[in-house]
Amino acid sequence: MSTIFSKIIKGEIPCNKVLEDDDFLAFHDINPRAPIHILIIPKVEYKNFQSVDPKLMEKMTKFIHKVAAHMGLDKSGYRLVTNNGEDSGQEVMHLHFHMLGGAKLTWPHVADADTKKFI
Ligand code: AMP
Repeated sequence: MSTIFSKIIKGEIPCNKVLEDDDFLAFHDINPRAPIHILIIPKVEYKNFQSVDPKLMEKMTKFIHKVAAHMGLDKSGYRLVTNNGEDSGQEVMHLHFHMLGGAKLTWPHVADADTKKFI
């Protein structure tokens, strides 16, 4: 399986890079949902969080901390989100974390029990 993120890792498609090491890449989201919206991906392909090798997450957590510090978000705060599977609306089937910050973020209602609408 090859996604657009695999092409970015191989350099076949450009990205606005934030940080990179041997195992991970962080780049700005093309369609930002916050003043700072960064995607953080492993270079090894996992479909999503549910299928990732938990051992990778220790290294990935350290890399995520570095990205936050690099952007100054370690001080101001940020939201970390990963969409996982169909119901979450995951579009790119390559594990990625969204790092959102640079403003006071609102926290949406996840479920409205009356209207049965879900955000
Ligand atoms: P998700 O819905 O969690 O799978 O998120 C996929 C994200 O990838 C979306 O926020 C897109 O805006 C972003 N995206 C898709 N293509 C690119 C690209 N070429 N460069 C940067 N971000 C991208």
